[in-house]
Amino acid sequence: MTHLTLQAVTKRYNAAYAVDHVDLSIPDGKLVCFLGPSGCGKTTLLRIIAGLETPTSGSVVFAGKDITSAPANKRDFGMVFQSLALFPHMTVAENIAYPLRLRKMDKAAQSRRIAELLELIQLPHMANRPVTQLSGGQRQRVAIARAIASSPKLLLLDEPLSALDAKLREAMQVEIRLLQQRLGITTIMVTHDQREAMTMADEIVVMEKGRIAQVGKPLDIYRNPVSEFVADFIGLGNILPVTYDSRGGVSLPGGQQIVVANPASMPGATGDIRLLIRPEDIFVKPASSDIGPNRLAGTVTFIRDVGASLEATIDCAGFTLTAATTPRETPGLVLGMPVLAELPAHACKLIAARAAH
Ligand code: ATP
Repeated sequence: MTHLTLQAVTKRYNAAYAVDHVDLSIPDGKLVCFLGPSGCGKTTLLRIIAGLETPTSGSVVFAGKDITSAPANKRDFGMVFQSLALFPHMTVAENIAYPLRLRKMDKAAQSRRIAELLELIQLPHMANRPVTQLSGGQRQRVAIARAIASSPKLLLLDEPLSALDAKLREAMQVEIRLLQQRLGITTIMVTHDQREAMTMADEIVVMEKGRIAQVGKPLDIYRNPVSEFVADFIGLGNILPVTYDSRGGVSLPGGQQIVVANPASMPGATGDIRLLIRPEDIFVKPASSDIGPNRLAGTVTFIRDVGASLEATIDCAGFTLTAATTPRETPGLVLGMPVLAELPAHACKLIAARAAH
């Protein structure tokens, strides 16, 4: 068993906590993303796991052994950083061979392993090409091949795709994910891109100011964020301040009453509660439709129509909603049009408001 566990891991720089008492267990064979805004401590946590930083307190346990003070080169983990750090004066094969040479693998075994890895990353014909003559995506694949060459027990990726353009980045997300699944290698990836995390991860660890804000499967976090911070960070959302009374009544900023999915789970009536509804859960209906519960009158003030999908901004009395739909579902939608926005009760979630600063 290669299980990785972090116990109360903390890293302080003077008085500032970069990582603040993090407890976490990484499941074997899965891809886990550390996700959060700039400065939340993702990279520091990954570097602590890699052995490139020593925590101020707490421990890192791998396969039942405390490795908190083990040096990076004794951990047997593969790493890919944002910069890739390929050796520019070497060929593709020489780069991939580097960790094998360090381990003094014999020449014939090295050649077999390099051939196998070149097949895996689909660059068998490029063994002798200098890495400076590769495209961004090809370099990316070489960096991954080098990281996994000596069959590490853990693969650590720090924003490995951030230098690529949007299209290549999306393609590489799928490629790395498929490779990781094929090899079954436990992988931790740092990213600040929630779409990337949703595409690739078995599990997402959302971080906020050095702490874990939520851990879970991507869609669980998307559907059931525990806080306004998480709801806001994962995907697009309409987050509205609402008032809530002890009989379960919820009022929107314009005073309209609304029925929600989880009123009972919220604590007593206070002002610091938010209503979350995702854009794709809102139905946009003609203004002539019947008025009913959770149907709000509004006016279309902006339309983003990109062909396959359509996003409409709807101004209601006292607040604005973003609804995601398609040109087929809502033909004839035009700016200035009066509409009814229907917010199905099951899709309306109450969440705790972000703590005031
Ligand atoms: P980004 O996405 O911008 O890389 P991050 O979430 O990876 O951010 P970290 O790089 O882990 O964040 O940094 C967490 C906090 O620790 C930041 O406030 C950062 O300024 C601070 N920090 C990181 N390294 C050091 C250091 N060597 N000395 C002092 N402060 C540091």
